[in-house]
Amino acid sequence: MHWNLTMTDSYLDFANSPVGARLADALGLPKPLKLERYKPGQPVIKGSVLLGGAGDPQMLGVLAPMFKAMGAQTVAHAQLPQWMPLANKAGLMTGRWGVDGKPGEKVKALLFDATGMNDSTQSDALYTFFHDAARSVLPCGRVVVIGRPPEACANPRKATVQRALEGLTRSLAKELKKAIGVQLVYVAEGAEDQVESTLRFLLSPRSAYVSAQVIRVGAPVGDGAAPTDWAQPLAGKKVLVTGASRGIGASIAEVMAREGATVICLDVPQAQAGLDEVAAKVKGRALALDIGAAEAPQALVDAALADGGWDVVVHNAGITRDKTIANMKEHFWQMVVNVNLSTQERINDALVASGALKAGGRIVCVSSISGIAGNMGQTNYAFSKAGVVGMVQSHAPVYAAKGITINAVAPGFIETQMTAAVPFAIREAGRRMNSMSQGGLPVDVAEAIGWFASPASAGITGNVVRVCGQSIMGA
Ligand code: NAD
Repeated sequence: MHWNLTMTDSYLDFANSPVGARLADALGLPKPLKLERYKPGQPVIKGSVLLGGAGDPQMLGVLAPMFKAMGAQTVAHAQLPQWMPLANKAGLMTGRWGVDGKPGEKVKALLFDATGMNDSTQSDALYTFFHDAARSVLPCGRVVVIGRPPEACANPRKATVQRALEGLTRSLAKELKKAIGVQLVYVAEGAEDQVESTLRFLLSPRSAYVSAQVIRVGAPVGDGAAPTDWAQPLAGKKVLVTGASRGIGASIAEVMAREGATVICLDVPQAQAGLDEVAAKVKGRALALDIGAAEAPQALVDAALADGGWDVVVHNAGITRDKTIANMKEHFWQMVVNVNLSTQERINDALVASGALKAGGRIVCVSSISGIAGNMGQTNYAFSKAGVVGMVQSHAPVYAAKGITINAVAPGFIETQMTAAVPFAIREAGRRMNSMSQGGLPVDVAEAIGWFASPASAGITGNVVRVCGQSIMGA
């Protein structure tokens, strides 16, 4: 099959046609909205951002110049009068939202700074802001709440209220509908200036299929330099993408190239034709190699060193061999665990120890919601993908010492050849049982990987972010 064949969701098209929309209404069927997706040259956010906050919000000072740099327009809820002078100082267009308790204009995004909340008794400010603004967010809008990581709060009451934010954001993600993504970003004290790459991702259509996630931003690993050009943050970088001949991997290669990188596209020798096609399309290089082979780590170290070192490694290659464990042959277990997990651990250690992955490097892994929730017939796969989460969390501090970050995306139902092979009823359930009532596209996973890979994402390590439209699996 052709590598870039787009798997289609015909119900999505039908429900967006005039006749289909009426029928879906009449029958009470889900009405998935066509998600807005990023196109090069677009502004970060099309429409204004409404700001709110509680207590003594601590992010406002850094947010004003960031919004200015993004070219965003902001308006402030009545609870946040201190925004005006800060915004004016940053040269940002701003105004007050709503008059006399009446809602103001429709906005594309809401941002609530909860970093100043020290106690649950201050939660009224959350109620007021979201009660007032809930109906004013445009379709495909974005909501971001910024808090402090509870585990780092010295005061237990502060830790409690900061932890409580997760229940609010995850519920809003289910309530707001209209394909609005809602996220909670915990920013460590002192790391406020590291949040820009994350806001640019979460406020833009790049995060089309990401919702109900909790993201932690901390002190920068390594230098943490912001890109000189936000449109091409990976300019001059060399990126290895495994499993690049088709599906999600082909899309990752495209997004990395769009972001300015030279892409080394890797896949098994049997996939050479598709691999060559992708490599030509992204003006990169093809590398035919089975990562499951014992000699793969050394072969990659040699290739990277011959290339002057690599900056980013994306472990996208993965396989499934589904059977209940009672019916599973031993080699099915071994193959899946080896390709999806053990070999990636060996490759990472070899690339980091040899310096073939440069200081300031990025490792991005691909887990799965099956690894988080478990799935019938996937003990081997879910073991390997939960292992990817473990690998990211356990190696983050180890690799940080070398200036390298490690993170993972955990895709939900993504329209690819892998999911096209799933039986119809299960496929349809996977597609619809999420807050967006549709599957994601490979590009949605690729955009999240682009965000992790950016030089500006030095404050992000040890994170696992789901790209699943808030799938109810393992929610
Ligand atoms: P896919 O099968 O279309 O592509 C995977 C690619 O990896 C293939 O080109 C394959 O040849 C390559 N590969 C497999 N074993 C390899 C090896 N030993 N060495 C080199 N290359 C190898 O799958 P996809 O749907 O594009 O999935 C990509 C990743 O996303 C996988 O890790 C998968 O587990 C994960 N994922 C996918 C979904 C989904 O809905 N499609 C959901 C969750 C996670």
